[in-house]
Amino acid sequence: MIPSILPTYNRAPMSFVAGEGSWLIEEDGQRYLDLGAGIAVNVLGHANPDLVAALTEQAGKLWHTSNLYGIPGQQELADRLVDATFADTVFFTNSGTEACELAVKMARKYWFEKGEERTEIIAFTGSFHGRSAAGIAAAGSEKMTEGFGPLLPGFTHIDFGDHEALKAALTEKTAAVIIEPIQGEGGIIPVPDQCLKGLRDACHEVGALLIFDEVQCGVGRTGKLFAHEWSGITPDIMMVAKGIGGGFPLGAVLATETAAAGMTAGSHGSTYGGNPLAMAVGNAVMKIVATDEFLGEVSRKSGALRQGLEGLVASHPDVFEAVRGTGLMLGLKCKVDNTAVVKAGYEAKILTVPAADNAVRILPPLNISDDDITEALQRLDQAAASL
Ligand SMILES: *Cc1c(COP(=O)(O)O)cnc(C)c1O
Repeated sequence: MIPSILPTYNRAPMSFVAGEGSWLIEEDGQRYLDLGAGIAVNVLGHANPDLVAALTEQAGKLWHTSNLYGIPGQQELADRLVDATFADTVFFTNSGTEACELAVKMARKYWFEKGEERTEIIAFTGSFHGRSAAGIAAAGSEKMTEGFGPLLPGFTHIDFGDHEALKAALTEKTAAVIIEPIQGEGGIIPVPDQCLKGLRDACHEVGALLIFDEVQCGVGRTGKLFAHEWSGITPDIMMVAKGIGGGFPLGAVLATETAAAGMTAGSHGSTYGGNPLAMAVGNAVMKIVATDEFLGEVSRKSGALRQGLEGLVASHPDVFEAVRGTGLMLGLKCKVDNTAVVKAGYEAKILTVPAADNAVRILPPLNISDDDITEALQRLDQAAASL
């Protein structure tokens, strides 16, 4: 008999009922150190007092009005994001997948308004952009698309790192290129800064729009507010979600005025997108994360964690191969099966997240304490020793 929850997930045997900073707690009081943060979502940890206060204060005032009316929190958060980034304008969604839908629509509408027949979008193998029709078509992998055809047409897939193939595919028919500056689900695989710069130039040459999917790597994760800032170049459109809501469902599409030119009244919408509850939390997250002090701390903590992980690779050469990633978006490329490492972590009461390319993701809350980093390294050592 089919379970009452549609069985699309392989779940670990734990259930959590409470959280506290970087810790998750089961009904019977067992505590797990959380280096997954809900897959890079809980940037300020669990039950963060500032976020709880922002949400409960808004919950007592007004939950929902729809986008038929002005939403003051939306104006505030949009202004914050515009001030802090390349973008001139923002649309709020409830998830990363919805951000992908709009990014694709926006890019195509841009060319439609210019009267040009440009609908092709170039994407990369190993990427992840969500599970909607546009999201799976963009990712293109058999694992995500098999059985769900006919797929949304117009996507071309280039092997990650194949510059020649990219050069050949990127033409004056290309509407846009979509890329994660650091592949998350793909196994924490950063695009080198030089390659992002080269891609920016190549897009400029043929006029194609550049879409960054910063759903996983954005919002302070790498020690900059957005990961592409390390490369010094900017996209035309950017997808944001996960960390921006700190655990409350929230996403956004940021765009330049030019790229957004086709998105006029009536061209897109969302019942819940930008709802007052999400805006209260999003503003609270940005107030804390989008500061030099906070981002500096992410980089400092990253240094300590990374050094410790390098030590683990050195002391468990049969288990781990290498550390990769930036900031607090780190990956351990494994020699043994990555899911065995994650399971050994459960025994040691530490949570990590598997990814493709036999990697284990380390994505702690960005405000993880130094003591918790020390504790995490001890538990990972214990887990590796058990394999
Ligand atoms: C998680 C993720 C998405 C999809 O976001 P949802 O909120 O799950 O819809 C899209 N792109 C990237 C890079 C992601 O990591």
